[in-house]
Amino acid sequence: MNAPLKEPGRISRTLIRLMMKRARVAANEAIGDGYRLITLEGPELRGVDWLPGQKIQMAMGSAFVTRTYTPIDWDTDAGSTRILGYVHGMGPGSAWVAGVRPGDECDIFGPRSSLDLRRIDGPVALYGDETSIGLAHAAMHADASRRVACHFEVGDRVGSGMAAARLGIAAAATFHERRADDAQLAALEESLAAQAAAGARFVLTGKATTIQRLRQSLKRLGVASGRIAAKAYWAPGKVGLD
Ligand SMILES: Cc1cc2nc3c(=O)[nH]c(=O)nc-3n(C[C@H](O)[C@H](O)[C@H](O)COP(=O)(O)OP(=O)(O)OC[C@H]3O[C@@H](n4cnc5c(N)ncnc54)[C@H](O)[C@@H]3O)c2cc1C
Repeated sequence: MNAPLKEPGRISRTLIRLMMKRARVAANEAIGDGYRLITLEGPELRGVDWLPGQKIQMAMGSAFVTRTYTPIDWDTDAGSTRILGYVHGMGPGSAWVAGVRPGDECDIFGPRSSLDLRRIDGPVALYGDETSIGLAHAAMHADASRRVACHFEVGDRVGSGMAAARLGIAAAATFHERRADDAQLAALEESLAAQAAAGARFVLTGKATTIQRLRQSLKRLGVASGRIAAKAYWAPGKVGLD
């Protein structure tokens, strides 16, 4: 069982009240091994200016401890948004994603800028991992005419496929299962050339070291840096990147 989040202290409570939006968990649906589709709602989520690719930071029992997630959509009239959270371990974010129940309350900082998908014209090649599937949904559903091809490195191809299918993006997604020697990275790199030749713009998210390696491969292929947008979502040994 996950440890409950501790109550925020006085300063933290003040900051939360001043800077964050209070929301209620409306649903937490398991949609594939480790994947949770979480719906948040509340009056403070109404009338919000949200752009696909932006992030929110969830308070983990304190304004000073947050974990970052990507809204997959946002209904500004109804005041609700959804995130696809991935439970990778025992950190506070994973514990929250795995443990929240309908009716639980939470505090959100944002939405704030992260990747600006509006600046990217034409076909998109989106590379990432379990943490990037929500971004792929946001990219595709904000602009149905946009061609998006996704390549994800994942621990479990079947569970990830189920999550992508539930979100309606499976047809655009290719999953590369992780291997002990990171051999999946070669397959990811191999797929870059065809995307580059098709004139795609590249969006690289997920694990920092994978992004670094894909950037180097794109450089070798002669892809200009202006065609690449990148944002590390996590890095081994680091906590709470934003
Ligand atoms: C802009 C942005 C958007 C993001 N959007 C999403 C999203 O939509 N959905 C989502 O699930 N995550 C998303 N993430 C990633 C998420 O914030 C991190 O995975 C976060 O570290 C999870 O918090 P935690 O408390 O579980 O782990 P932490 O306490 O932060 O980390 C504990 C350890 O686990 C490692 N770790 C962190 N993440 C992973 C991982 N995914 N796989 C393996 N090891 C990991 C860390 O390096 C660290 O060593 C996003 C991150 C950023 C910066």
